[in-house]
Amino acid sequence: MDLNNYEKLLESAYERIPENIKQSNRFEIPKVILHLESKNTYITNFNKIINTLNRDKKHFFRIFLQKAGTMGEIRGNQLFLKGRYKEQVLNRLIEIYTKTYVLCSVCNKPDTVIQRESKKLFLKCAACGVREEIKEK
Ligand SMILES: [Zn+2]
Repeated sequence: MDLNNYEKLLESAYERIPENIKQSNRFEIPKVILHLESKNTYITNFNKIINTLNRDKKHFFRIFLQKAGTMGEIRGNQLFLKGRYKEQVLNRLIEIYTKTYVLCSVCNKPDTVIQRESKKLFLKCAACGVREEIKEK
């Protein structure tokens, strides 16, 4: 084997390792999979998204509809929305929800729980221990 080539192979192998580790640890929200029917939209992978966010279905649903400015309902594993929506728009709304209600504002990890205290909501992070009030927008 050509030594030069061998070194290049080694180099590229090393370059790939941190990338792989980063990917397996990264928190990634599944992108919405939509089914459009007449004037309505179904998010068919709603359950998967909720499971990834690890939040209460009804809490997410309420905030999400409010932000989308429409009506809808949870139908089994799907989320039904009145109106036709583009994927990018809904993905963006989920991102906004995630930033506010899931990701720790200090360490940016999703290992959090929502705690309710009188009328205030707090996000408690299991990764870094921070507890911060959630500022609803
Ligand atoms: Zn944290």
